[in-house]
Amino acid sequence: MKKYSEHINYLKRKSTIPESRYFEFKDEKNELFNGLYRFYQANLERQHKHYKFEISPAYVYFIDSSDLNALASPPKDGIFLLGISRGLIELFDTKLNRYFDISDYAGIEGIQQIQDCVTNSIGELMYQTLTHFTFYHELGHLIEFSQSNRKEEIEEKLSGNYKDFNYEDHIKEADADLFASICVGTHLYQYFENYFECEWTEELITCYLSILSSSIFTYFLSFNEYHDGLYFEQKSHPHPLVRLFYSLEVIVDYFVKVLKKKNVNYDLDQQQIMIQTFKISQVMISKFFDDKKFQDFQQIIFENNTEILKYKNKLIDDVSSMATSAVNERNRKITKMECKIS
Ligand SMILES: [Zn+2]
Repeated sequence: MKKYSEHINYLKRKSTIPESRYFEFKDEKNELFNGLYRFYQANLERQHKHYKFEISPAYVYFIDSSDLNALASPPKDGIFLLGISRGLIELFDTKLNRYFDISDYAGIEGIQQIQDCVTNSIGELMYQTLTHFTFYHELGHLIEFSQSNRKEEIEEKLSGNYKDFNYEDHIKEADADLFASICVGTHLYQYFENYFECEWTEELITCYLSILSSSIFTYFLSFNEYHDGLYFEQKSHPHPLVRLFYSLEVIVDYFVKVLKKKNVNYDLDQQQIMIQTFKISQVMISKFFDDKKFQDFQQIIFENNTEILKYKNKLIDDVSSMATSAVNERNRKITKMECKIS
């Protein structure tokens, strides 16, 4: 694999996106960005080889911006590009990898128990879940591009103007989220199966999933600058709560399914996981963003449960009939051994 600096020089020659967008680090030994570049570039190549997704060649790069953002570019120059902002990586690396303090989460039941069962820090696992979700969500958009003629880039930063709503975009975002959820769910299960050193119980699995789902919820909330309440047919992306509902459903269903194959029959309570997810996310958001207030999501759900479920189900139904869906493309390409998203 090319060195990151050579890789960026190559992209500057091949692509018409503005050169100023590329983040170039001076220190060739920058472990954080070099490590991520190598991991995700290899992953892109493996996705292409293993699943035969028609996204070759595809390249990952970092966007030179302190904003939290990610971008997927269609192959108008003959290459697929997946960009993650420097700001997103730096913020979560600082807060979760470098300065994670489990005592901030002292009020959360079970978190210390989970920490005692794994050798990695919980913060590190949260960080990985968040960056993986970011990556796989954009990969989902690249696969959507491979099935369509779309020419415009997709950006994750939430746009809130009235004209920014287009229901088709909500379906594409839901598709990329569902695709990311199954990919991240697979990682979470593999880690759990290989590195979890305690006896499996329903309580521990529930707690493990709540901790890592809170990273995904924080990812949804971190693009949301508008602090306003629940909405449905508005803005560029579905509301974070709607996104959490369908993502959690995919991950919990996946765990139940793979555990059943091991003759472990657990009925994981999605609602309990969600409540625990809110508690953990509340701590995360308060530690990460000075100016973000955490809404009472439990109350919002209590008051709007029917509408949230209705919109969530409508999106899932429309993803399943979407011709250019990454989820459907994955379901067509996977082998019988792997789990379909139903
Ligand atoms: Zn997206």
